Amino acid sequence: MDYDFGERACELRARLRELISTEIPHDYLGAFTDDPEDLEVAQRFCRRLAAEGLLTWAWPEEYGGSGGSVWEQTVVREEMWAHHEPRGAQYMGLNWVGPAIMAFGREGQKERFLPPIAAGQVIWCQGFSEPDAGSDLASLTTRAEPHEGGFRITGQKIWTSYAQMAQWCVLAARVGTATTKKHEGITIFLIPVDREGITVRPIKSMLGPHHLNECFFDGVFAGPDEVLGGVGNGWNVIRRALAHERVGIARYARCDRLMSQWAGTRDGMAALPVGLRSAWARALVQVRVARLLAYRAVAEQEAGRSADVSASAARLAVTQCDQQVAELLFQAVEDRSLEGPDNDAPLEGAIEDHWRYAQAATVAAGTIEIQRMIVSRSLLAGNKGAP
Ligand SMILES: Cc1cc2nc3c(=O)[nH]c(=O)nc-3n(C[C@H](O)[C@H](O)[C@H](O)COP(=O)(O)OP(=O)(O)OC[C@H]3O[C@@H](n4cnc5c(N)ncnc54)[C@H](O)[C@@H]3O)c2cc1C
Repeated sequence: MDYDFGERACELRARLRELISTEIPHDYLGAFTDDPEDLEVAQRFCRRLAAEGLLTWAWPEEYGGSGGSVWEQTVVREEMWAHHEPRGAQYMGLNWVGPAIMAFGREGQKERFLPPIAAGQVIWCQGFSEPDAGSDLASLTTRAEPHEGGFRITGQKIWTSYAQMAQWCVLAARVGTATTKKHEGITIFLIPVDREGITVRPIKSMLGPHHLNECFFDGVFAGPDEVLGGVGNGWNVIRRALAHERVGIARYARCDRLMSQWAGTRDGMAALPVGLRSAWARALVQVRVARLLAYRAVAEQEAGRSADVSASAARLAVTQCDQQVAELLFQAVEDRSLEGPDNDAPLEGAIEDHWRYAQAATVAAGTIEIQRMIVSRSLLAGNKGAP
């Protein structure tokens, strides 16, 4: 395997690090805290990245991007996650909503929706999951009934990240009655979150006050021009969205950074209880293994092969190393991690923050059990490319 990302990717990494060090406060822990300034930091940073031509680096040139390679996209994912995702919620629009609109949108939709995403001005949320449709998403029951040339949408979504701060929602609803083929009829709508009939209720969780939400749709009108990819073609759009999510967040990058940061502190390795030293070494190996598995999925993408199975294998390793490192760091600092960033908590509260987010890693964007099933089915089917 060739570990050289190439000159352009290395330059990109250096530029991103430089910008992060000048634009992002050293104690920033993401956009979803109690402090509204954190959200503003993220919004400002996106506008700055846009001005530097870095926000849509991965987008094709015809849509104002730089046609960044999959390795350059990996660099962006690593640097952003390692530094507590300073783009905040906007990554969703950049990573998959924009690309899905490029792939499935009509010209008018491209002209309307892509420039604001590229300028770092808009937050999108994803209204897919429902109380009884998560892993089995195709059984969703939110309905879109034909009405006066458009549709009336009624139903409930749950776990909708950022819905409270988003301006737009990519919503999956069913047109017509569910048949034995559950995927049929699913349709994607692009609708503003402030439209009449939509109620967003935050769900209090350990991911901070502005992350998860329930969304209720009570006869919400959507025009025919708000359908993405055609009526009944939603499953194809969703598959594309999930394909972008599948390689997933570069969680190993933050694990690596936190472990190095802790090792570099006065209380770090020297004060690490002897009993934790071998666990530390094992966790570090696990982080590097997760990184390499992620790179294997990226290499398959680059070669134009389907990376589904290797991406699932990578996600198994990446999400588990996230939790392993979270536990280890917690043990290393003991209850001092709970002292809060204002009270001298180690790494300015980043350890406690990391622990909270790591708990959701094996559920968000597809649970660990489902990932295991994808890998084992492929092995049982004798897929030569399987890990
Ligand atoms: C932090 C976070 C952010 C999220 N953001 C969004 C968002 O922005 N938009 C959105 O639409 N959704 C979002 N989700 C929802 C997420 O996609 C779902 O939670 C996930 O798909 C699992 O669905 P579920 O919660 O309904 O669990 P279920 O599917 O009900 O699963 C419950 C348990 O049963 C297991 N299970 C289910 N089916 C099988 C099976 N066939 N075989 C073996 N085990 C099985 C699962 O692995 C899990 O352990 C988010 C979730 C989290 C945690």
